[in-house]
Amino acid sequence: MGIDTRAAACTSCSKRLTRKSWYYRNGKYFCKRRCFETEQAKLAEAGKEAAKTA
Ligand SMILES: [Zn+2]
Repeated sequence: MGIDTRAAACTSCSKRLTRKSWYYRNGKYFCKRRCFETEQAKLAEAGKEAAKTA
């Protein structure tokens, strides 16, 4: 944790985020749009699995 309270690493690939290059979506931080899409796909898959087993 630094001075900022914002996340310091990409939610998807855990790459460190620099001050000006980060991408904020749905309360999470990513290093680039591609990582956001990857994470969304992952969550969609998890949601599908949960729906199946529930
Ligand atoms: Zn990333």
